[in-house]
Amino acid sequence: MIQLYNTLTKKKEPFKPLKDGVAGLYTCGPTVYDLAHIGNFRAYVFEDLLHRYLEYSGFKVLRVMNITDVDDKTIKGSQAEGKSLTEYTDRYISAFIEDMEQLRLKKPDYLPRATEHIPEMVSIIKKLLEKGYAYRKDDSIYFSISKFPSYGKLASIDLSEIKPGVRVDVDEYEKEDVRDFALWKEEKENVFWDTELGRGRPGWHIECSAMSMKYLGESFDIHTGGVDNIFPHHENEIAQSEAATGKKFVNYWLHCSHLLVNNEKMSKSKGNFHTLRDLLNKGHNPIAIRYLLLSTHYRDPLNFTDKSLVQAENTVKNYNAFYQAMDFCKTEKEDNSIRPAIEKARKVFTEGLNEDLNISLALSGIFNLIKTANIALTDGAIGVKEAADIKSFLEEIDSVLAILDTEKTELTEEERNLITERGSARKDKNFKKADEIRDKLKAKKIILEDTPYGTRWKRT
Ligand code: AMP
Ligand code: ZN
Repeated sequence: MIQLYNTLTKKKEPFKPLKDGVAGLYTCGPTVYDLAHIGNFRAYVFEDLLHRYLEYSGFKVLRVMNITDVDDKTIKGSQAEGKSLTEYTDRYISAFIEDMEQLRLKKPDYLPRATEHIPEMVSIIKKLLEKGYAYRKDDSIYFSISKFPSYGKLASIDLSEIKPGVRVDVDEYEKEDVRDFALWKEEKENVFWDTELGRGRPGWHIECSAMSMKYLGESFDIHTGGVDNIFPHHENEIAQSEAATGKKFVNYWLHCSHLLVNNEKMSKSKGNFHTLRDLLNKGHNPIAIRYLLLSTHYRDPLNFTDKSLVQAENTVKNYNAFYQAMDFCKTEKEDNSIRPAIEKARKVFTEGLNEDLNISLALSGIFNLIKTANIALTDGAIGVKEAADIKSFLEEIDSVLAILDTEKTELTEEERNLITERGSARKDKNFKKADEIRDKLKAKKIILEDTPYGTRWKRT
């Protein structure tokens, strides 16, 4: 049974979806005024782990990630470049999707754009006006938080702080600032929709209520984001959705801690960020970046340093070398330690991830298996069958981790024999012959690398 830490109840709870076997998952997506930085990607990698592990555990996942393509920043950016909002945001949406692919993030079932869901937002706002939860001020419409008694339940905000009628209508919010928030903003910067509510544009929070409920229903299972989303964004989503429908909006709220730099949140405004492209242009491996973001528990802070990236790079390289070394286990011998070690690794992997995605525990099981296998490997004791079992176990869990390099094309029989022959020559200290074979393979565009886990090859 998967246990998840729920920000709403402040405790770990067993995950039980509303509909047997199906998990409805909503993740707050990017505001597309610029490239996402790897701090943002910490949140998306955590959500990817959750998505993949739910699938590994047998759930069908229905996932929505919104694209915020209208807000103060996108409007300002498009106007500065003299472009339409769509033209401006399209570029960043494509870049975001490319970055997601580089980090092997699963594509959500729906990636809805806010600007394509204005009627759905209008309909919720109309309901809130009818029910008396919303009011007009000039040509804008606000949600009255004093009308919603359980306001503050997610972020544990003290209700005595609520000052009725104090409004905020910018898209960015100071933490702990409890005010009525804008559902609909009057026409200002020449970006508007003509609707039953008048000319204007939606506030940020209403976007996520409209898009999540459209695709997942008025009540659904899991809603995620970074901890900075808890207040006011998610608190406001709960208030306006539950006020409109009279139903519980979301059962499980999950939030990841921030990616830090020198112990400060990585953010655009602080200027202490790296985009994924910056790091790739410097020659870093996207899978190592994925691993770095993945391998710390999502609720623990993670401090980004160059050293941690180099370490992640080495781990991913060694992990893949070990995986490939399994191709060179030729003997028919059997080592009795391998199968129990695989079973143990699988057990620890699931026990760890079942425990609120405890990735460190899950990975420790795998590294113990590798340690056991390496001991057997140096003795030449892993047989063909056991090597195949190890490979298929690593492939199985790679549906969750997605760090294996499985794209290599298989070797031909002749090439495989040459590599084995070279291994024997090296063992016999016949380095002349070993080098000749290495050159022969090089001519076939196969490069060899001798690692502590055996000889690794790649095609150039
Ligand atoms: P934004 O585009 O600012 O709305 O952020 C998109 C997602 O990234 C949200 O879920 C944020 O909570 C998350 N986020 C932003 N900065 C960080 C960070 N430094 N570490 C982890 N998550 C972050
Ligand atoms: Zn959101």
